[in-house]
Amino acid sequence: MIIRNSPLRLLNPGPVTLSPRVRQALSGPDLCHRQAEFGELQQAVRSALAAVYPQAAHDYEAVLLTGSGTAAVEAMLGSLLPPGQHSLVVANGIYGERIADMLTAHGNAFTLIRSCWEAPLDLAAVGRALDQHPRPSRVITVQHETTTGRANDLAALGGLCRAAGVPLLVDAVSSFGGEGLDFDGWNIEACAATGNKCLHGAPGIAFVLARREALTARRAPARSVYLDLYAHHAAQAHGIPAFTPAIPILYALREALGELREQGGWQARHTRYVELSTIVRAGLQRKGYQRLLRDPAALSSSLTAFRLPPAMTFETLYETLFREGFVLYAGQQRLYREIFRIAVMGDLHREDLESLVDVFPAI
Ligand SMILES: *Cc1c(COP(=O)(O)O)cnc(C)c1O
Repeated sequence: MIIRNSPLRLLNPGPVTLSPRVRQALSGPDLCHRQAEFGELQQAVRSALAAVYPQAAHDYEAVLLTGSGTAAVEAMLGSLLPPGQHSLVVANGIYGERIADMLTAHGNAFTLIRSCWEAPLDLAAVGRALDQHPRPSRVITVQHETTTGRANDLAALGGLCRAAGVPLLVDAVSSFGGEGLDFDGWNIEACAATGNKCLHGAPGIAFVLARREALTARRAPARSVYLDLYAHHAAQAHGIPAFTPAIPILYALREALGELREQGGWQARHTRYVELSTIVRAGLQRKGYQRLLRDPAALSSSLTAFRLPPAMTFETLYETLFREGFVLYAGQQRLYREIFRIAVMGDLHREDLESLVDVFPAI
């Protein structure tokens, strides 16, 4: 039997439905962030984050930020890109394009290799760009493009980066903890992520996991006070955060990371997502819905985008499912009228997705 502490099951890719024990952890004791106890909490979370991928446990360090996933992506880009050099942004969705927007806002030179949202990353164009001189100093991309639910082929992209000797920076906000990350094989210098998507914590804490040597020598004068990764790293290495942290959210993240470890780590979570997504994909197909991405190999484990039937608006479908206790997720921008999305992140179980399929209107 499932004991539920929330009346709603969230089908959006974060913030996720919390497990009872993670929700319980939110009401931990009051703490001053200059107490030794806080230092221990912070260190426990930083070490557990670095240990999610055993390959990264020794050479990478987690730097925590109070903010949403975007804060971590912006801190990573704003701090780690060497000044005066250009980088290569490889995008096929809103989050990849947002990386380009950030570099424009920061005044960084870059080349954008952009595919249409329904298409894979343009690896042939990346190969050509990496052959040119001067080479881009960094390649930057998104692992799970949440716009469409595509798991980008980072093995192929990372292989190109490794062969060219160019470090890769990854927006892993909606994949960290749910998809594989080959830190060495893909030449990953850093990735940015959040506690409230595949890690199943509450919203409010994000982080960058970066090679230690990238964090210890400042590359460029800080262009942001709040999003200066070097300042956060130096402060956290001394046990005291640079700014007031979201302490209850850290309690929850510590608990969520313990839960992830006990459940078998990222591989087990990935397997569970695939199992839950399979229920959704097969069930909605039976009801007459079509996936946006037809190629099964393109799909992320945790999110599926379906085409809205011509006679149905997102609002009507949302209302129907909301009455049954499910929160459906819309498409963004031009996809708002075309698709809906279902993510299986969070404290969701087979029974939840089976009853979701049951209540879905057939077309
Ligand atoms: C959710 C998400 C983000 C960041 O979103 P926030 O709303 O800032 O947490 C960034 N990139 C990807 C791929 C995402 O899915």
